[in-house]
Amino acid sequence: TKYVYAFAEGGRDMAALLGGKGAGLAEMTRLGLPVPPGFTVTTDACKVYLRTGEEPPELGVEAAQALAGLERAMGRGLGAPDDPLLVSVRSGARFSMPGMMETILDIGLNDRSVTGLAKASGQERSAWDSYRRLIQMFGHTVMGVDGDLFERAIAEHKERRGVADDHLLDTGELAVLTEEFKAIIRKETGEDFPQDPAEQLARAVRAVFDSWNTERARVYRHREHISEDLGTAVNVQAMVFGNLGTTETFKSSGTGVAFTRDPATGERGMYGDYLPDAQGEDVVAGVRDALPLSELKTLDPRSYVELGDHLRTLENHYRDLCDVEFTVERGKLWILQTRVGKRTAEAAFRIAHDLREEGTISADEAVIRVDGAELTRLMFPRFDTTPDDIPLAHGVPASPGAAVGAVVFDSAEAVRRAAAGEAVVLVRRETTPDDLPGMIAAQAVLTSRGGKTSHAAVVARGMGKVCVCGAEALTVDPDARRFTTTSGTVVREGDTVSVDGTAGTVHLGALPLTASDVGRALENGTATGPLTEAVLGALAHADSVRRLEVRANADTPEDAARARSLGAQGIGLCRTEHMFLGERRALVEAMILAPDDTAREQALAALLPLQRADFTAILEAMDGLPVTIRLLDPPLHEFLPDRTQLAVRLAEAAEPDPRERELLAAVERMHEQNPMLGLRGVRLGLAVPGLMAMQVRAVAEAVTARLSAGGRPRAEIMIPLVGTVEELRLARAETERVLAEVAAETGRALDCPIGTMIELPRAALTAARIAEAADFFSFGTNDLTQTTWGLSRDDAEASFFPLYLDKGVFEVSPFDSIDQEGVGRLVEIAVEAGRAVRPRLETGVCGEHGGDPDSIHFFHRIGLDYVSCSPFRIPAARLEAGRAAL
Ligand code: ADP
Ligand code: MG
Ligand code: MG
Repeated sequence: TKYVYAFAEGGRDMAALLGGKGAGLAEMTRLGLPVPPGFTVTTDACKVYLRTGEEPPELGVEAAQALAGLERAMGRGLGAPDDPLLVSVRSGARFSMPGMMETILDIGLNDRSVTGLAKASGQERSAWDSYRRLIQMFGHTVMGVDGDLFERAIAEHKERRGVADDHLLDTGELAVLTEEFKAIIRKETGEDFPQDPAEQLARAVRAVFDSWNTERARVYRHREHISEDLGTAVNVQAMVFGNLGTTETFKSSGTGVAFTRDPATGERGMYGDYLPDAQGEDVVAGVRDALPLSELKTLDPRSYVELGDHLRTLENHYRDLCDVEFTVERGKLWILQTRVGKRTAEAAFRIAHDLREEGTISADEAVIRVDGAELTRLMFPRFDTTPDDIPLAHGVPASPGAAVGAVVFDSAEAVRRAAAGEAVVLVRRETTPDDLPGMIAAQAVLTSRGGKTSHAAVVARGMGKVCVCGAEALTVDPDARRFTTTSGTVVREGDTVSVDGTAGTVHLGALPLTASDVGRALENGTATGPLTEAVLGALAHADSVRRLEVRANADTPEDAARARSLGAQGIGLCRTEHMFLGERRALVEAMILAPDDTAREQALAALLPLQRADFTAILEAMDGLPVTIRLLDPPLHEFLPDRTQLAVRLAEAAEPDPRERELLAAVERMHEQNPMLGLRGVRLGLAVPGLMAMQVRAVAEAVTARLSAGGRPRAEIMIPLVGTVEELRLARAETERVLAEVAAETGRALDCPIGTMIELPRAALTAARIAEAADFFSFGTNDLTQTTWGLSRDDAEASFFPLYLDKGVFEVSPFDSIDQEGVGRLVEIAVEAGRAVRPRLETGVCGEHGGDPDSIHFFHRIGLDYVSCSPFRIPAARLEAGRAAL
């Protein structure tokens, strides 16, 4: 194996071996850009070192040869006393790990060569400045001396001289400081700062290898999912000097970073910072305020123009936004690093769009360059915060966005105030399905308990509503209508708070909001501009290439309309349980508690027109597009009052209400240990006489009403939680019976596909049988994940999920992104088996995974027809479905 490559030998496709920085330096060298010469020690060498604790034996010889080559090219010897060659020793892994590993500058300086450098450059002060930097960096990085000791020495020195800026220390003072640094090293390590340049170099290379394993580097890799065994490369490069001062003869010296476009906005034109009379790390360290790059134009017009040329060369070559580190040494420009630059979501869209318009990349590539997560971020309104805005509390950033409103403590108050046009924030300890109307009415939901998959979080995300949950510093007292913070602030009902669902914070008062142009442009076309144009362009192309359809999960006409305006091609999941809440609850109670058939029929008959009106309005909003209506799914006790509360109330009442007693009996009758595995879904439909018939009739009559109104209703009926084809056959027979009955009554034929949800492993495994009775499959991947893993999402999230994520049992929660090899495999099996029986079987996904980018790519691969997700996630889903097809 070859362990050392001269820059001229490498290239951009060798990043695994040379690291990102080394590959970039090599590529620029080949392009003829002014890169100080040097060589790269490979990641392979690092891996050997990390494995065995020793460099590979060949490395010494190869590095010596490379160094000799470098010395020849530069016409100077490393650390030579009269005119020394100095080098930097720079880390550089395959993936950028900003600030995580070490770089040491000015290797080769010692007590003699510092004078040589001073003479050769004519800059005595700069030479000493470089020497003290070397001792400082080497002492800290290689010899392990606490960096603060050096900083403190500098501070004391400045104090003694009465100056504020490093810059104002003169040559003599720097020389004294250098001696102090050496003494610190001696005192701390019992060893002298090494004067031998070859030893400095060898130890610096080894220190860079070691920096792969520092705690912060490990933590960073863990978070970024970067593999532990990649290792880092080491670049050894001739030093150039940006700190040679500025004089008439030398023109300018300095250092800076530059981007080919603005990485924050994507705006065309070079962008960056420049720091005159400084060495590389000063820019990042912020020791002095940098100037905008445009100042270089006046300071040194030639270097400015040349830099612009190089940036253009790089951007055309990499066909993307690039950034560079550069240094100007006495009017001579050097490029020290390049890479494809990081950028904000906004810049990502604009740059992709502009590069496509400029003909640099294709429309396909422009779509690949952006992603759904970025698009989602652009759709949220944002707060304009300053560091002075201290939050009341921190919680889990459960659903992003920014919202301002008056605090309310229960659902009814939320609904009442919202109806009066007030913006409200619903604050609860935790939420239950009872809080739904309030959550819908509120701008944001704030809870003091629960994590990312708590009820509040899941429902809020589904609605695209801002949510911070688990803000444990808050003590919520709904009865007193106030919450208090640990610091003692009391917030009462009606007080205004600002909830930042992106940061997971709550602030007292109204923070200023910035509306998202992208959100407005997508929803109603009321915003225009370069960014919205870029987003719409990317979406249009994604739409033209994607195979997956995108439908919405929507239960109300408003959501349906919103989803449609965001590009939904129908409703993949219309849940009917939300239609049983609110004031209808009394009717539902009456239905459940009915002492006899007549009473039950009466209750059902009262619900029928309400359901019919719901469906009619939704079908109207989605006219011409499919609307998949799921029959009632959750266990009935969810619609009844809490057992304990009811029992307590009865026990405490002087004269117990007989109706309440009846209610309690019913609640007790219906009580289940594991309601999620109990009487719900199709089981409920089969067990409660008349319930399914009422719902199907409501659908059929709504369809009829829409047909009479000249509409094109496309209702589909979906049976939930089927485990065996026998259940589906029974449900289907009942559904068909009612459809035929309504058709006979109205004289209108009803064409209404009947399908099922696949959300139990047994259903997936017997999909061939089930397909005999199903016109379509819709994968309910939330329940399928719970039932496949045998865990309850609500409980597991709160107890062992954090541990599992930390230990790496899960890389992401299987509820956030589909578990492809387990749950995903079941979906695949079911699709295949179902299609074998019924080739035109329509298949889709309606779980939360339908809006998750990775999951969407998986569903595309296994050939589903559509994904269905909450309205807010539709644009991102369209984009990802397009990217999946490319
Ligand atoms: P990082 O990866 O943390 O950016 P670098 O290896 O890029 O570390 O180096 C840190 C700073 O030192 C950069 O500003 C870089 O431009 C500067 N630098 C590195 N090598 C040289 C060199 N040969 N001559 C002058 N400056 C250098
Ligand atoms: Mg760098
Ligand atoms: Mg389900």
